[in-house]
Amino acid sequence: MSNIKNGFYGEFGGRYVPEQLNKILDEVKQEFYKCKNNSEFINELNYYFKNFIGRPSPLYFAQRLTQKLGGAKLYLKREDLNHTGAHKINNTMGQVLLAKKLGKKRIIAETGAGQHGVATATVCSLFDMECIVYMGEEDTKRQALNVFRMELLGAKVIPVKHGMRTLKEAVDEALNDLIQNYKDTYYMLGSAVGPDPYPEMVNHFQSIIGTEAKKQIIEFENRLPDYLIAAVGGGSNSIGLFSPFYNDKNVKFIGVEPAGKGINTGMHAATLCEGTPGILHGFKSYVLQNEYGEPLPAYSISAGLDYPGVGPEHAFYKETKRAKYVSITDKEALNAFLELSRTEGIIPALESSHALAYAMKLSKECSKDKLIVVNLSGRGDKDVNEVYEILKNK
Ligand SMILES: *Cc1c(COP(=O)(O)O)cnc(C)c1O
Repeated sequence: MSNIKNGFYGEFGGRYVPEQLNKILDEVKQEFYKCKNNSEFINELNYYFKNFIGRPSPLYFAQRLTQKLGGAKLYLKREDLNHTGAHKINNTMGQVLLAKKLGKKRIIAETGAGQHGVATATVCSLFDMECIVYMGEEDTKRQALNVFRMELLGAKVIPVKHGMRTLKEAVDEALNDLIQNYKDTYYMLGSAVGPDPYPEMVNHFQSIIGTEAKKQIIEFENRLPDYLIAAVGGGSNSIGLFSPFYNDKNVKFIGVEPAGKGINTGMHAATLCEGTPGILHGFKSYVLQNEYGEPLPAYSISAGLDYPGVGPEHAFYKETKRAKYVSITDKEALNAFLELSRTEGIIPALESSHALAYAMKLSKECSKDKLIVVNLSGRGDKDVNEVYEILKNK
C-alpha cells in the first residue's frame, strides 16, 4: 500500500525546507511511525472516530439518481455525515492525538475556506489545546461565518495581510510560527500536502474512508467497484479513498479538479491537469506556476479546492498512470449540487459536487452492471448562501 521511499513518491514529495524545520519534522515523523502501529494509539483513535465523529460513515446507494441516469450504479461514501460536516476531521483527530503524544500544548493551522480551521478548532477544544489559525485576510472576509465558528470553539484566528492574502500566505505564516515556537507547538496541516511526513500522515488518517468503503461495497455487491471518484483540492479525501485500493488494479481511480470558469479562461485550479512539476510549500509536486516558478492564483466556485499545488502522491499516481485526473467547471458542479439535492435529499458540498458531476457523466456512458463509488467529502450547508447569491443573480 505504501509508495513512499525516504519521503519521496517517485520524484515527488520530499522536504525542501530550511534546516531548522528538518529537525522538527524528523521528531514528528518518528512519533508518527511509533504511534501508527501502537495498539493503544489505534484504540484511542478508533474510540474518537466512532463516538465523536460518528464513524463508520455509510456507503449509500443513490437509487433514484442511478435510475435517472440509466447507467452505472452510483454509490456515495457519506463523509458529509461526519461531525463538522466533512472528511477533514479524520485527519485533525489523528494529528491532535499525535500532538498529545509529543507533549505539545499549542496547535497552529492554516485554513483557506475555513473548513480545516473549524476541524482543528474542534479537536483543540476537545483536548484542551491552545489553537491558532492563520487565514488570509481576503479569506476571513469571504468566510466570516467560519471565522466565528472557530472563535466559538475557542480558537484565535490571525488574518494574514501580505501577498494575495489567501491560503498560500497563510501556510507561509504557519511555517514561520512553527520555526519560532517548535518547542511547544505542533503544526496541523490540513491536506495531503507539505513536506514529508505530512502527505504520508494525512493519507494514513484519511485512509479510513477507503478501508470502510471497501468493506461496505463488498457487503452490498460482493465485489469491488469499477471506479472510485473524488474531488481533488490538496488531495486528502481522494487519497484516503483511493489508497486502500491501490493494489486492486481493476479498480480505476479518477480525481476531479476544478476547471472553474473554464480551463482556457485561466480561472481554475486544475493543478494536475494543467500544472507542471515544481516546488511549493516545501515539497515537490505539480504546481500551477508561471515561467519563473511563482505560483499562479487559483480559482474555483468552491473555496476548498482553490490551491495552486496538490499532494505529491497524486503526482506519482498521475506519472505512473495509476489514476486519471479530469476537470469539471463551476457550472457543471453547480448542476450536480442541484441534482443531488432534488433527487436524493442530500445537499452536497460544492467541492464534492465536482466529483459527483463527473460520476454522473461517466455513469451515463457505462452499462448498468458497472459500479461507481463517489466520495461525498462534505455537506453543502456551508454553501447554500453562495448558491443562493449565484442563482438570484442569474
Ligand atoms: C477541503 C475540502 C476538500 C478538498 O480538500 P482535499 O484535501 O483535496 O480533500 C474537498 N471537499 C470538502 C468538503 C472539503 O472541505
